[in-house]
Amino acid sequence: MLRNRKAKIVATVGPASNSEEMLETLYQSGVDLFRLNFSHGSHEDKLEVIQRIRKIEEKFNEPIGILADLQGPKFRIGEFANQTISLSVGQSFVLDNDETLGDESRVFLPHQVIFDNIKIGDDILLNDGVVKLEVLEVTDNKIETKVIYGEALSDKKGVNLPNTPLPLSALTPKDEVDLAFLLKQDIDWIALSFVQRADDIIMLKSIIKDHAKVMAKIEKPSAVTGLSDIVEAADGVMIARGDLGVELPSEIIPVITKKIIRECRQQGKPVLVATQMLESMINSPKPTRAEASDVASAIYDGADAVMLSAETAAGKYPLETVKIMSSIVKSTEEDHTFQNNMALFSPKRTDSIEDAICASLSQVTEQLKIISAVTYTSSGHTSLRAARERPDAVIVSITESLKVARQMTLIWGVYSVPITDQPTRVTDIIATANRILTKLEVAKSGDKIAITAGMPFGVPGTTNFLRICELD
Ligand code: PGA
Ligand code: MN
Repeated sequence: MLRNRKAKIVATVGPASNSEEMLETLYQSGVDLFRLNFSHGSHEDKLEVIQRIRKIEEKFNEPIGILADLQGPKFRIGEFANQTISLSVGQSFVLDNDETLGDESRVFLPHQVIFDNIKIGDDILLNDGVVKLEVLEVTDNKIETKVIYGEALSDKKGVNLPNTPLPLSALTPKDEVDLAFLLKQDIDWIALSFVQRADDIIMLKSIIKDHAKVMAKIEKPSAVTGLSDIVEAADGVMIARGDLGVELPSEIIPVITKKIIRECRQQGKPVLVATQMLESMINSPKPTRAEASDVASAIYDGADAVMLSAETAAGKYPLETVKIMSSIVKSTEEDHTFQNNMALFSPKRTDSIEDAICASLSQVTEQLKIISAVTYTSSGHTSLRAARERPDAVIVSITESLKVARQMTLIWGVYSVPITDQPTRVTDIIATANRILTKLEVAKSGDKIAITAGMPFGVPGTTNFLRICELD
């Protein structure tokens, strides 16, 4: 949908938002792309949501992106006889492979790989880092620890191992089952959790091929270390601050967030800032000032999109959250320093023809005060390179591939339009641009417009054409 903003909004679907009416309302109120979290729910539920989103898409005749998020190797402890236990600092606590219910002194840890790889002195973080244990002793089936901090622990809490490298394959058996399901569904992006290295993404892409674009979730210290290669291998990046903020100290999360955004903008890969953006709205109709500032900060940095997780999946105010997020994005972008800010970080251009064309596009739209530029793309690449310039003009991305059109809903400043007629001559593309821009009412008759495309048409990687003309 043509919205009055550049950055996009991704909302996670869950029990609070999976009805047809709610999905439609959220879409109308500002969601550009829906995220399905494969850590929760059944395939039947997911299928239903996919069908509902596709129905809304048809009703509004606009592409809507769907991002499927694979759980990856998320570890959890077992259960306790009394559901919850209390802990005291300094006490000993054992994780073992005994399936019986836990108590104040021990709990089941159903992941042999941890027993095989953890070392004395390593940290174990439980329940999103609220409890920290230090490893004192390890055997094949038992890890003895000391409680460093934390007061309580309950069933099935998550386990993070910030300084224990694990020889895991990128996909767990559950991910493989989920992926097999996803390869049969009409989805646009697939995100991989706990990416450790670029090879994880390369492997996943070899399975997914053209079925979807692949997003790397940066939530491990090792992914931050290997950032540049991971960004290069992936089609997009999610800054998954939930787990990242457990595995790394909070004080460096803002710095790392900015660093990841810069790297993605440099490479021209879409970047999504995620988790706890409007967290308090899970239970409150208004965000805190700090949360509003957090969303604004991602926008000032030039992130492509901001994401809602539990706020829309399980919160009490999914609709209010989307509306407020959209308003924060808009008011940030209306700040007169915003567009200058975008220009402050100008990514280095490669010596490719398409970068030269996209640089010219950015320059002519600014110089001639052109408010809408059309990029004709078959793979999405031209639109991505144009968006990388962060121009003031709306980028109207047109493509014959409905899938590519849906994928482009994530991209900064892009309004994505699927077309059915393949242009064969320059006059065809000008006619199509005229038709779309007139219908959108983003430009009026006589206004200058800019069009980029690659010739021959329909062949990826041929961007070589920039035309400036007047709207009929
Ligand atoms: P999750 O990923 O919601 O799947 O854990 C996001 C994050 O960790 O921030
Ligand atoms: Mn995570």
